[in-house]
Amino acid sequence: MGRLVLENVTKSFPGPRRQKIPAVRDLSFTVGDGALLAIVGPSGCGKTTTLRLIAGLETPDAGSILLDGKPMAGVPPQDRDVAMVFQDHALFPHLTVFENMALGLRLRKVPRAETARRVSAAAEMLDLTPLLERRPAELSGGECQRAALGRALTRHPRVFLLDEPLSNLDAPLRLQLRGEIARLRRRLSATMVLVTHDQAEALALADTVAVMKDGAVQQLAPPRELYCHPASRFVAGFIGSPPMNFFEGALAQENGLLFFHERAANGPSFSLPLDENTSRALRPHAGHAVTLGLRPEHIVPAVPGNASRAVQAVLDRIEPAGADTLAWFSTGAHAFIARAPWDAFPKTTGPFPLDFKMAHALFFDPATGAAIEPNNQ
Ligand code: ATP
Repeated sequence: MGRLVLENVTKSFPGPRRQKIPAVRDLSFTVGDGALLAIVGPSGCGKTTTLRLIAGLETPDAGSILLDGKPMAGVPPQDRDVAMVFQDHALFPHLTVFENMALGLRLRKVPRAETARRVSAAAEMLDLTPLLERRPAELSGGECQRAALGRALTRHPRVFLLDEPLSNLDAPLRLQLRGEIARLRRRLSATMVLVTHDQAEALALADTVAVMKDGAVQQLAPPRELYCHPASRFVAGFIGSPPMNFFEGALAQENGLLFFHERAANGPSFSLPLDENTSRALRPHAGHAVTLGLRPEHIVPAVPGNASRAVQAVLDRIEPAGADTLAWFSTGAHAFIARAPWDAFPKTTGPFPLDFKMAHALFFDPATGAAIEPNNQ
């Protein structure tokens, strides 16, 4: 069991002049038994505070936290049945890996034989058995982080709270430990809340991702929905690497179709038709200013002979990215990035025609940043 519910949770901290610093505002979400929720967002958006509230290390100003239906108000951290893994692993340097992993159980007066059994089972799962007699100074960063995960595992908690557990590791180790977390989840059917500023990690591991900004959830959705249907320009720009490109302009109706006209103070600008379905759905927005959003993979070299639909852009530089190449372009008014197979772009800078895949275009309200969804006209 491990169903976690947050209902309208709010938390502020006192500032230096006794003003309130809001850290978390009206936060509500449910993490089902055995599910993994990832919380992402820029620095200071309230991710760690959310975890600390769930762990009982902070007390909410308002709202409630329920674990398997039981309100956690007044329940101290040690009685919450949650285990937290921190970014800096927080192992005691004078204790061996075994002693670090056993410490929590010893403090809870779990019998010695049971403690040894749990530590050796957790060590087995995380390939730590040969390292049990070493001290943290004799371990690599990845091994320390695995030991910290192991310490949480021995507790058999209902919920794991992981606060940037991989962020101090280099890229290959991150990938390896990401795999370990995914494997552990399957094996333990554990409920997990993972805080990360790495959106790729969130998309790779989570069933549901909460994107936070200024203490509030901007969107709560499965990874694919977040990527394909971001609720706002902020989410669209935060999820995806390189980020989505944005173009300011307006929609205009011409011969039954809607056109997006790029806004340019001076110099050339482009104009592109939307497909029939999108034109019909967005008709109420004809004549309005909009922001066009297109992901880098939806901007590709124009097919020769289709010049009338091509956007004339200027290639500023290219950057090989393994199988793909990233290409930096500009039009009169906007700079943007395109992504295509490694040989798709020329090696020399200069004018280059592009195909904007408008079937994938997203539109945002330039004033509020909210997505303009065809179904909320
Ligand atoms: P990061 O990614 O940088 O770790 P975060 O998203 O985890 O950031 P929090 O640590 O939850 O953000 O902080 C949220 C806000 O609350 C920030 O404005 C922070 O300065 C403030 N804050 C957090 N803890 C305290 C505290 N103990 N006292 C005062 N303000 C705090």
